[in-house]
Amino acid sequence: MPEHNRYEALGLDGIARKVMAGERLTLDEGRALFACPDVTAVGALAHLRRTALHGDRTFYVVNRHINYTNVCINGCAFCAYQREKGQDGGFELSIQDAVDLLLAAPLTPREVHIVGGCHPDLRLAFFVDLLTSVQKALPEATLKCFTAVEIAHFARLEGISTIEVLQTLKAAGLAMLPGGGAEIFAPEVRRRICPKKSDAVEWLRIHGEAHALGLATNATMLFGHLESIDDRLDHLDQLRRQQDQSLQNGGKGFTCFIPLPFQTENNAIKVERPLTGLDELRTIAVSRLMLDNIPHLKAYWVMLTVKQAQAALFFGADDLDGTVVEEKIGHMAGATSRQGLTKAQLEAMIRGLGLTPVERDARFNPIGGQA
Ligand code: SF4
Repeated sequence: MPEHNRYEALGLDGIARKVMAGERLTLDEGRALFACPDVTAVGALAHLRRTALHGDRTFYVVNRHINYTNVCINGCAFCAYQREKGQDGGFELSIQDAVDLLLAAPLTPREVHIVGGCHPDLRLAFFVDLLTSVQKALPEATLKCFTAVEIAHFARLEGISTIEVLQTLKAAGLAMLPGGGAEIFAPEVRRRICPKKSDAVEWLRIHGEAHALGLATNATMLFGHLESIDDRLDHLDQLRRQQDQSLQNGGKGFTCFIPLPFQTENNAIKVERPLTGLDELRTIAVSRLMLDNIPHLKAYWVMLTVKQAQAALFFGADDLDGTVVEEKIGHMAGATSRQGLTKAQLEAMIRGLGLTPVERDARFNPIGGQA
């Protein structure tokens, strides 16, 4: 039992015992962790859990992000990236543009992450060609592409089901869905920040369908805008219930959870009390403790900054994402991190903390026989 007296004095003794035993925490226990005055005590519990799952192994991936367009019909209030069709600053990559960018990456990516806006005219055939061309150019890369929101959009444009879209894209090489578009599931907040986007029911249903088709997926939570602490806990609870269901049905499930702190620049949402660094770390820690059935938690350095991502590795996170190379969505909203990191920089970031770097593929399999 870690520092029994410390947790007893904080009223977290029962929670600490449950964490040690690997038992599921209730929403009330999640509230107690958010209310605890000692954020380092919460972080220590999350680190205990992270260590029980992964030891000091800390994952990273040589990857490349491609954003194929910022033209989008949704117009989410928090989005600094979106443009209307024909508006200045809008862009659309051709398939050749995307392949050229991937081939120009300094290291051959093991994971290709492709997402974009919900473009009114790009049809499913374009995305089939895109995946086929990328897979041909980079046969060893895992294609982690299109959020559930994009999948729902493709289905509406084609007049077919989301399962049919997933099956078509899987046949073209799609291996995973990224976790974007989840934002925060609470319907009232969602109506204010992204009213045209898939709701929680649709987002979770599409991930469940992907899991059943043998596609692993990731999950995100955008926090620090208009949502309450209870909304964050509800979001985490809905994810873990979907994970229970997907795994019980023999599906792939969520591989990694990515908590994304809200970026405050260039968008229509005015936040009264922006997140502090400690708010971010506490949310990461509580996420690790609540999500007992999702194996990995990513400290996405692009949104957190490099140094905060390093701190998060002691608050429950076990992954730093990767080289990225070029990121548009977070940076247009004010993210101040650099655009890309080298493999050597990622390894040095991890070793500098006394942790062990492990290069992984998109599914978190170690590369090159690392432990
Ligand atoms: S967040 Fe995504 S769906 Fe919303 S406006 Fe921006 S690009 Fe479109």
